[in-house]
Amino acid sequence: MSNHSPALKDKLLFPFVAPPNGGKGTQTQILSERYHLPTFDMGSTFRAILKEGKDPELKAELESYMNNGKLVPINTVVKVFQKGFEALAENHPEAKGFILDGFPRNNEQADALLTLCQTWGATLSKAIYLNVSLDVVRTRATGRRFCSENARHVYNVNDERLAPKRQKLNESGQPVTDAQGRILWLCDIDQAELIIRADDEPQTVDKRLLEYEKETNPLIALLKEKALLAEINGEQAPEKVTQAIEQLIQPLLGLTAASQGN
Ligand code: AMP
Repeated sequence: MSNHSPALKDKLLFPFVAPPNGGKGTQTQILSERYHLPTFDMGSTFRAILKEGKDPELKAELESYMNNGKLVPINTVVKVFQKGFEALAENHPEAKGFILDGFPRNNEQADALLTLCQTWGATLSKAIYLNVSLDVVRTRATGRRFCSENARHVYNVNDERLAPKRQKLNESGQPVTDAQGRILWLCDIDQAELIIRADDEPQTVDKRLLEYEKETNPLIALLKEKALLAEINGEQAPEKVTQAIEQLIQPLLGLTAASQGN
């Protein structure tokens, strides 16, 4: 933590907190584009390291936690966060601020982030907390399907607004199922088979939710106590969630509703 990164001086950081499948990914993508706020996503950064496979020791460490729905230990998280986030900031000198998706996730990560912000001269906004009940996120998670050709094509078989249209059929025209008896679906856009991410398998979802209750609930309680939490009902329609977040961040970015996105 000793190196000073001038790229983050006077930048605004917006940390997002939500349970797994709480809608963070959807919201941060919309806001990032609309307000030119590049996003640092901790989970995706870890997945990219696993895919690259350049550092076998780090890969093995990450896998042992991620495959069990556990949080990666603090030293590794902070090291990966600082390196990746400073690089992102250096690549976007024009940005007024940045979105943090999935960091911090517990009290010790929040302490580390505060210390880093002091070193950088960056300003931390209130954490944007999408409050979604664990029953709702469990249903969302177990219904989520990704296109095997393009992971940006995401569906949800438990939500009729987001459900794919076509099932995979066998030669006799019957729906094909996986080993657990779940129907296989096809992407509406490129007809590739839809897959279930390992993280969304029911056993992993339950482990991740337990870990969330153990690690992140205390962070939410602490931030609330210190008035550093902006709580948003994450069970509303996605557009309403976006509007609620916009009301919060526009004044911080020096924007009024009329000048939004300009
Ligand atoms: P996500 O894509 O945000 O759900 O993260 C996937 C997995 O990466 C989590 O289940 C954790 O194992 C790990 N991970 C992501 N963010 C953090 C974090 N801030 N601290 C520790 N582990 C994390």
